[in-house]
Amino acid sequence: MPRPTVARIDLEAIRFNYRLAQQKAGNARAMAVVKADGYGHGIQAVAGALDGLAGKYAVACLEEAEAIRQAGLPQPVVLLQGVHEARDLARCAAMDFEPVLHCRQQLGWLSEASVPSFWLKVNTGMNRLGFRPRELPEVVAGLESMGGRARLQGFVTHFACADDLASDFTGQQTRSFEAAVAPWPDLMRSVGNSAAHFRPNQPLYEWSRPGIMLYGASPMIGKTGLDLGLKPAMTLEAPLITTRTVRAGEAIGYGCTFTADRDTRMGMVAIGYGDGYPRHAGTGTPAAINGQRIRLLGRVSMDMLAVDLGNAPQAREGDRVELWGPTVSVDEVAECAGTIGYELLTGVSARVPRVHE
Ligand SMILES: *Cc1c(COP(=O)(O)O)cnc(C)c1O
Repeated sequence: MPRPTVARIDLEAIRFNYRLAQQKAGNARAMAVVKADGYGHGIQAVAGALDGLAGKYAVACLEEAEAIRQAGLPQPVVLLQGVHEARDLARCAAMDFEPVLHCRQQLGWLSEASVPSFWLKVNTGMNRLGFRPRELPEVVAGLESMGGRARLQGFVTHFACADDLASDFTGQQTRSFEAAVAPWPDLMRSVGNSAAHFRPNQPLYEWSRPGIMLYGASPMIGKTGLDLGLKPAMTLEAPLITTRTVRAGEAIGYGCTFTADRDTRMGMVAIGYGDGYPRHAGTGTPAAINGQRIRLLGRVSMDMLAVDLGNAPQAREGDRVELWGPTVSVDEVAECAGTIGYELLTGVSARVPRVHE
């Protein structure tokens, strides 16, 4: 029997979350961001589940875009980081991929390949990638002189602080973007990670780009996906492989970081950091068994972790423990591990089979 440690993927939840994103996007259309193997959910299954709903997909790199084509899906795919060499643009042209070009080196490659459609990245304050607003007139004029202007679809910018409703930086970035691209009203505009969909009165223009919300995890500080009306798409589960009672004064696991202050019925679960479960999740991190919330005890090992069964007296060997899913939000586990749901979902390792249902 294969180890029953699996990530169950609810494709209907992904469709539900996409519809919510589209509804929040209003007049904009939502391109489905499926990079990093569909945030760990399986890019081909996720893209397939959104076939007929999402008008475009967005990914980080060419390999991910090619996986979408290999799944037989014909929709345009936006490459959010552009490409890495001139030859990649020929792949884009052949496969109907739309690279987002962010620097002069990438623009230089345009003269070598007739990519039918591309976007320009505008740096409005994130300061990762893109042209500054004041550079745009010269960049677009350069495209005109080399015959690339007709293939320019539009402009993209990315928000740095949209997850924080107390910050107005998104407003500043929006105003800067709108002014920067105003001279080209015939071109499209794309802004809006998931968080931007939850900001009141945030313009999303022609195309928004929801990612994490499609998977039911939260993009917002201090809120879980459930708080935001999203459905968790991944249930990470593993079997209880033994149970015992540790006596008061006995410790559990590496470093003996947890010592029982009373006799405690505990269990071992067949999942650990070798599966992508975060090692930084310490004693008290929530999990669930048969719908009952329980807590982790001591340090997470590579292949297993310990849980307190004090409030789940019915729990037996072979029962499935939910590490995150409908009962325990991945956002809560992330909080306990000092990270974000994004990192946990994308970090589930290849050792864990994805079961799409
Ligand atoms: C990853 C990414 C997104 C999606 O962000 P989420 O926070 O997951 O919604 C949107 N735009 C760009 C440029 C990205 O890199």
